Amino acid sequence: MNLIVIDLEWNTATRSQKADSWPAAGMMFEIIEIGAVQMKDGFQTGGHFHRYVKPVVYKRIQYHIAAVTKRTQQSLKNGVLFPQAADELIRFTGENPVLVSWGTADPEVLISNFQFHEKCGEFRFLALNAQAFFSGFAEGVSAGEQRSVEYALDYLNLPKDLPFHEALSDAVYAARILGRTLEQELAKQPDATVETLIRPYVYDPFLTRQREDRIELEKGGDLLTALKNRAFVCPACQKELRLLPASGGCGWQNVKPDKIWFSAAVCEEHGQIEIWVRKMRRTKARSYTIKTRIPEGPLKNFF
Ligand SMILES: [Zn+2]
Repeated sequence: MNLIVIDLEWNTATRSQKADSWPAAGMMFEIIEIGAVQMKDGFQTGGHFHRYVKPVVYKRIQYHIAAVTKRTQQSLKNGVLFPQAADELIRFTGENPVLVSWGTADPEVLISNFQFHEKCGEFRFLALNAQAFFSGFAEGVSAGEQRSVEYALDYLNLPKDLPFHEALSDAVYAARILGRTLEQELAKQPDATVETLIRPYVYDPFLTRQREDRIELEKGGDLLTALKNRAFVCPACQKELRLLPASGGCGWQNVKPDKIWFSAAVCEEHGQIEIWVRKMRRTKARSYTIKTRIPEGPLKNFF
């Protein structure tokens, strides 16, 4: 498997820009830095990629982004234009890459930038959420808690010798976390291989993975009855889902009393699906949001 750990820094609209340019641009976040590290057999190979990218839409650094990345307005003038950086990245990643990132935002932003520059036809890749992988193996849970890179480094006793929020060092950190998690898991499971551990966490970032609906209950209506009578569909293909029974027999678990309910489901084509029902606050009628999402790894600790 061709694993490339990637980390992006991006800029976004400032208050003065928001009104006109962002709806026209159709790109909410514009990449200003790309860092990537090659991995082989679960370990860093030393192959590194780093580019500063000159923004063409959001040319003024947004204050929050400036604070986190320590980038200055002046520094945005350094770097290459996105189409060139994209070509160089494609060359670096090679054939059929699986892009590993911390969380799911990086592949989404990468795809939106490729689309904006009309280069999407040139780059297909699969993705792996290292955060979900870390939570799934090191902590034994699904990625409900979104752990920070720093948390995972501490948890695994890894050194924090590089600056945070710089694309290349964040990619190196994510690579170390993935490598250490793999190493520990291979020691625990003698029959496992890097491939068998990684494969269940590889997902297609080009699929629509999430949808949100809303239901309103009539007066005296019962939520569980309403949920039982409802057909849920897959966010990617709209086919009807089969709900899986939970340990108590009923499919719905009341995760937070009278606030949040959860059920696992299956799409024949896209596998396991999470369904989250949340009571909405500050509405007159009894309204609930229903979030259906394809997870980035196997569901754990729900059954
Ligand atoms: Zn589906």
